[in-house]
Amino acid sequence: MNVPFIDLGKQHESIRREIDGAIDDCIRHSAFIQGTRVEGFEEAYATYCGARRVIGCGNGTDALFLALKCLGLQAGDRVVVPANTFIATAEAVSMTGAQPVFADVDPVTANLVPRSLLEWDQPEVKAVIPVHLYGLPADLPGFRSFQGPLGRRWLLGDAAQAHGASIDGRDVAILADVSTVSFFPGKNLGALGDAGAVITNDDSLADAMASFRNHGRKSKYTHDVEGVNMRMDEIQAAVLRVKLRHLPRWNEIRRQLAARYAKKLSGIPGLTLPPTVPAGHVAVYHLFVIETDQRDDLAQWLSQRGIATGIHYPVPLPLQPCYAHRHLNPSLFPVAVEKSRRILSLPIFPEMTRGQQDHVVEAVLSFLAH
Ligand SMILES: *Cc1c(COP(=O)(O)O)cnc(C)c1O
Repeated sequence: MNVPFIDLGKQHESIRREIDGAIDDCIRHSAFIQGTRVEGFEEAYATYCGARRVIGCGNGTDALFLALKCLGLQAGDRVVVPANTFIATAEAVSMTGAQPVFADVDPVTANLVPRSLLEWDQPEVKAVIPVHLYGLPADLPGFRSFQGPLGRRWLLGDAAQAHGASIDGRDVAILADVSTVSFFPGKNLGALGDAGAVITNDDSLADAMASFRNHGRKSKYTHDVEGVNMRMDEIQAAVLRVKLRHLPRWNEIRRQLAARYAKKLSGIPGLTLPPTVPAGHVAVYHLFVIETDQRDDLAQWLSQRGIATGIHYPVPLPLQPCYAHRHLNPSLFPVAVEKSRRILSLPIFPEMTRGQQDHVVEAVLSFLAH
């Protein structure tokens, strides 16, 4: 039996008529940029997460850049990002001219925690970007009320892996000054190409981001500022609007799959499971990440049994070659380093069958008994 890491073909087959209809409609109208569909999706997503404003853009990296740029980040500033995240979180900081600084993460949640900011008590630090890694909410209310040195800085939330995750009934996207999502095809809500969005309750920030992503336009021929072209296109918006209707159900299936993995893999020596989600928090399991000292052998064992896995991420961000010139010592990020050697992402996707999941569970159990 083969178990892919994700099965987008199966997902799109299941809603093929709706998607075909949405794309047909776009072609019939042939307004591919700045028509009505992007706005329609922005409103639908704002309703979904209970936000005042959602601004569609080209991808999740653009979204982070637009947020940082319109908050005024510039050369000389610093922004705290987690040591274990996808590189986009840091790239967007560098795109503004500011410098990403890397904080180690919590050993249990793999997320940034407010106390990890204590070492960044510097006036240059203007913002912090907790990432809701693997779909687990980072403690944004904790950051908000953190009385430490970073209390006054901008709080951004990178929710690229956390569409629909919430704390006390509120979507994580509205718990930061501004949040970003990616609609990369493999995310919990994925387009048929690149797309992303910024989310905020701040109208003037939203207006600035909406204008900046569209050449700094105030009107067709008036440019208040020199902006960029980071627009979402109409076909992606139309498809996303269709897929958004299915997101709550898909997230619910991910939670059920995660609960089933946790039940069947619990209590096994040498195997660490994802953390218990705190009361009031809702995770969306973009990834189901286990930890073991024999990670590479387990990955190979699973691969021989037709099971695809991933590692998110195999190299802590500060230790990537692109940051070699900063000479960051691995001892500054002990948790990220340890995790990078032990983590393994098992397949989890809404179309996964019970049989496929059983095959993964049996293969993991047989490896650890072996
Ligand atoms: C996917 C992802 C991004 C970037 O999204 P793109 O749409 O690929 O640019 C940013 N941050 C995290 C944590 C991600 O997983």
